[in-house]
Amino acid sequence: MEQRYSIAIVGCGPAGLSAALNARIRKKSLILFGEDGVSSKVSRPASISNYLGMPSVSGEELKSAFLQHIRQMGITITNARIDGIYPMGDYFVLSSGGRMYEAKTVILAMGAKATNPIPGEQQLLGSGVSYCATCDGMVYEGKTVAVAAYSEQEEDDVRYLAKIAKKVIFLPQYGSSLAGGNIETVAGKPAGVKKADGRLCLSLANGETVLADGVFLLPGCADLWNPKTVRSSMGAVFSFLLTIDYPPSGVTDFLFQTFCSGSPQSSSAALPRRRSPSGWGPPRR
Ligand SMILES: Cc1cc2nc3c(=O)[nH]c(=O)nc-3n(C[C@H](O)[C@H](O)[C@H](O)COP(=O)(O)OP(=O)(O)OC[C@H]3O[C@@H](n4cnc5c(N)ncnc54)[C@H](O)[C@@H]3O)c2cc1C
Repeated sequence: MEQRYSIAIVGCGPAGLSAALNARIRKKSLILFGEDGVSSKVSRPASISNYLGMPSVSGEELKSAFLQHIRQMGITITNARIDGIYPMGDYFVLSSGGRMYEAKTVILAMGAKATNPIPGEQQLLGSGVSYCATCDGMVYEGKTVAVAAYSEQEEDDVRYLAKIAKKVIFLPQYGSSLAGGNIETVAGKPAGVKKADGRLCLSLANGETVLADGVFLLPGCADLWNPKTVRSSMGAVFSFLLTIDYPPSGVTDFLFQTFCSGSPQSSSAALPRRRSPSGWGPPRR
């Protein structure tokens, strides 16, 4: 155990890096953890066009700019995966392997991971497969896209893509009445994706295939207990929370609410249950 930091930040994506920067500006002592340095989600995109002040920047350029900025501020990244957080009263102990760190406050900025990705999804993410209509929609202007949506909430994204693309092949994974115009609704569950002659070939569980220029697998919402709506969000945070076994009341709730606060689903109904020594139970308030 070295020192007790004011703030420990877990996760090195844009959120964690921004938190670290602002903590440093406020002259807090901090430690910033990234299991693999800066998030690969930052460096992956070939082009990012919605970052204010950087009209056309590649992911690698953005990552370099982020790193340069934090280095200028004297912030370093501790390459470690945090596997547990233990409340100790007025501070927390964070563990990584056998190593322990102490901090008065912990900021969780662990992003979201796709759960159960279909074959080909991870490999083609950023080169044909996308999770984000706003980020990548314009790439498919005048083209054909296949869009799998997991909740009604994502229909705004489908409509948005329909305005840009020539055709939207819509694969709702729930009962949807969205139709019309250039939206063609197809029944079927995405089962795999691959490239074929420069296009994307999405295979469906019913044996059919859909050909498109791009495939959007929309992320679903953060309702962890609705398997129909969840495609992402569960990974990092959820597996991490399972390691927190017996925190006193308030700690997990704080963590869960932090996690859920980023979601439009935020409500007590959307909060996941917590694990208590006696089993699963509703989040305590
Ligand atoms: C291919 C692709 C293209 C994209 N294009 C755009 C775009 O053009 N415009 C746009 O606005 N957005 C885009 N996005 C989305 C954007 O990258 C994410 O919204 C953003 O990275 C989220 O930032 P974050 O800091 O919340 O989480 P993340 O970037 O997910 O970072 C979280 C980090 O925490 C780490 N971590 C998790 N658990 C632990 C742990 N226990 N210990 C230590 N570290 C941990 C993870 O490994 C990860 O590095 C794109 C994403 C992808 C994948």
